[in-house]
Amino acid sequence: MYQEDIELEEAYRIIEASTKGVTETEEKMLSEADGYVTAEDIKIGFDVPPFPRSPLDGFAIRSIDTKGATEENPAVFRIIDTEFAGDFCTKTIGAGEAVRIFTGAPIPKGADCVAWQEDSVGWDDENRFRTFENGTEVKIVAEYKPWENYSFQGEEIKAGTVVVPKNHRITYIESGVLSSAGIDRVKVYRKPKVGVFVTGSELMKPGEPLKPGKIYDANLQFLSVRLKELGYAPEMTGMLPDDSDEVAKILSEANDRCDLVITSGGVSVGAKDIIHLVLPKINAEKIFWGVRMKPGSPAIFSMRNGKPMVHLSGNPFAALTTFELLAKEALRKLSHDETLRNNMIYVTLGESFSKHRGRRFIRAILENDELHFPKAEKQTSGNLMSMVGCNCIAELPPQDHPYEKGDRVRIFLL
Ligand code: AMP
Ligand code: MG
Repeated sequence: MYQEDIELEEAYRIIEASTKGVTETEEKMLSEADGYVTAEDIKIGFDVPPFPRSPLDGFAIRSIDTKGATEENPAVFRIIDTEFAGDFCTKTIGAGEAVRIFTGAPIPKGADCVAWQEDSVGWDDENRFRTFENGTEVKIVAEYKPWENYSFQGEEIKAGTVVVPKNHRITYIESGVLSSAGIDRVKVYRKPKVGVFVTGSELMKPGEPLKPGKIYDANLQFLSVRLKELGYAPEMTGMLPDDSDEVAKILSEANDRCDLVITSGGVSVGAKDIIHLVLPKINAEKIFWGVRMKPGSPAIFSMRNGKPMVHLSGNPFAALTTFELLAKEALRKLSHDETLRNNMIYVTLGESFSKHRGRRFIRAILENDELHFPKAEKQTSGNLMSMVGCNCIAELPPQDHPYEKGDRVRIFLL
């Protein structure tokens, strides 16, 4: 059912309910899987550690052989082998025997503890630890309990444990986890294809001399770069004139090819606000028009062939804010990528703010736990330049008095 002038929460709800996540999956080599979202729970096939492991440098021994050991009356062991991380000692430790062992090496059979090298007698005159050759002796000056300094097989992770769940974006962390689990192929969702188009007969690309009446494009550029930053570089882009036939032709093609189409411009009520004419021409259904927020209020959400299209206002700051709040939500749902969810946090205002009518989104700078607004701030929705140096967008809901320094407000980080 078509709705107008809705609350942002309702817009989220509609986008969430109308947008279907991509179902097609593909298998990626781990080296190429980062930035993709897992399409199944990924389980580890073995225990971690895969063998009983020494957590320190010392001597693998039987604890029972240290009974009563003290500085004055140390227990004496014969060294039968030396094991560094990566080695594997096949000998079994018997009574009075020790294996010189280093952190990460497997604890040999027969041993039930590892004595600290600091608890051994064997430092030379220059306070360097002498090497223990096989066949030499080491004296241990303390008692050990069974399983002291003994990392059990599987004590960190048991075989069969899910190490990365389904619907989880593979970042450098997951990638490291999968590698340590020995996994080199991952089933992921294919990435949604995104098309980005700006409309406006006044728009020119940088590089051409500026003609009278024209302006250089900001939105196609920043939207493309933002999508690329997020890991969803657009498949199709275009700068279109305010000609509804032309825009209709391109948008229908884009909607056929892409999972998400994002446009900017032409969503208000002026004679050249052509998106209203375009949507019926291509049999797209307008789902909502108008969200109670400033800037960006005339945004439109439409569906065609079961696929979402988000139409943002052309004012660059409005386009930026509604991209982050609305278009990214559609992309999140399509991609199953929860890292696209806006991270809303509460912070303290470092200065007062007088405009308090209407639900406002304001570019801001979070620094030393305080929120500030850029100097000479002209809160026009068109000026993207004042965004330079900002790291967040603050949400200031309407209230009947100005915002004061020290008030708590909600922001999302960019
Ligand atoms: P519109 O939403 O089409 O009414 O555009 C609102 C304002 O934003 C107008 O001043 C446009 O010239 C400007 N504008 C629209 N699209 C862009 C763009 N891609 N880059 C920079 N400014 C734009
Ligand atoms: Mg326009």
